[in-house]
Amino acid sequence: MITVSNVSKHFGDFTALDDVSLEVPDGSLTALLGPSGSGKSTLLRIIGGLEWADAGSVVIHGDDVTNVPPQKRGIGFVFQHYAAFKHMTVRDNVGFGLKIRKTPKDKIDARVDELLNIVGLGGFAKRYPSQLSGGQRQRMALARALAVEPKVLLLDEPFGALDAKVRTELREWLRRLHDEVHVTTLLVTHDQEEALSIADNIAVMDNAHIEQVGGPRELYDRPANPFVMGFLGPVA
Ligand code: ADP
Ligand code: MG
Repeated sequence: MITVSNVSKHFGDFTALDDVSLEVPDGSLTALLGPSGSGKSTLLRIIGGLEWADAGSVVIHGDDVTNVPPQKRGIGFVFQHYAAFKHMTVRDNVGFGLKIRKTPKDKIDARVDELLNIVGLGGFAKRYPSQLSGGQRQRMALARALAVEPKVLLLDEPFGALDAKVRTELREWLRRLHDEVHVTTLLVTHDQEEALSIADNIAVMDNAHIEQVGGPRELYDRPANPFVMGFLGPVA
């Protein structure tokens, strides 16, 4: 479980997060859903240790990581714009985190093959990132984030740069991947349909606050306030 307690963040006079608390259940696929500028990425970055909170705490699986650097939090990240090593094959990109941890080569190869199969890139190990489509690259990024067996996967609009058809396809991949590896996942998105279709649990954000947390059905049937109703309403 990820527990965020009373986190605030200001940029100068501007309040990006105002006393935000959130629980992400163990093994869930939770969406952090809200309009652009509502504070989603800032909250995700604070959970990941890429940004410091002005106040509050972050606990991941029982460990208070509020003052722990990102590389020691046991987190895998995927962002909207994939960050692949262009001169390295898909195999070497996915295995990179294991290599720097001095994992033996046969173990790396086995783990990489397993992950590439899970994300549907079984035949692509020898390709270079430039030889993949946008959707394939983001699947490679997911495999790479999962290679080191993170406790938590943080995804910031991972499909945001892709066209609608590929986004829908990747949604399904993410859901299937999650059902297979069960890693606690927090997915930032501004897309109601994306959140409603794949998340177990949705936290709706607006204007530096979390407005409501619940399952897709619950939010849709019993919105806590006019903002949640309006934001989810036009869908379905
Ligand atoms: P979202 O991901 O929901 O679109 P963000 O968390 O990126 O929102 O940003 C929330 C607000 O905080 C925005 O108004 C943004 O302009 C502001 N903000 C984010 N990061 C910074 C920064 N480093 N400096 C100044 N303002 C920032
Ligand atoms: Mg954002």
